[in-house]
Amino acid sequence: MQVELDCPLCDERHPYSIEIHSSIVLYAMHAGREPRTQTRSFTRLFLCPEKGKRFEAGVEISEPSYSRITDVIVKAGTDER
Ligand SMILES: [Zn+2]
Repeated sequence: MQVELDCPLCDERHPYSIEIHSSIVLYAMHAGREPRTQTRSFTRLFLCPEKGKRFEAGVEISEPSYSRITDVIVKAGTDER
């Protein structure tokens, strides 16, 4: 998943690539209900490619009721080598 964040360090927007790990909740899949999606916010550290410093930001990720997000991993910003 690609996200763009407003950087508090240099006031620009940077693109980041994040990896979402989730597990399927089997009983919810078979419950016969319409899957509902809720949005959860995860706070992670991101690297500003301009300043070379990290900042904390929240990312909103929608999670269907049949899956449970277990981890959110920030991969290197696409500007970073
Ligand atoms: Zn920045």
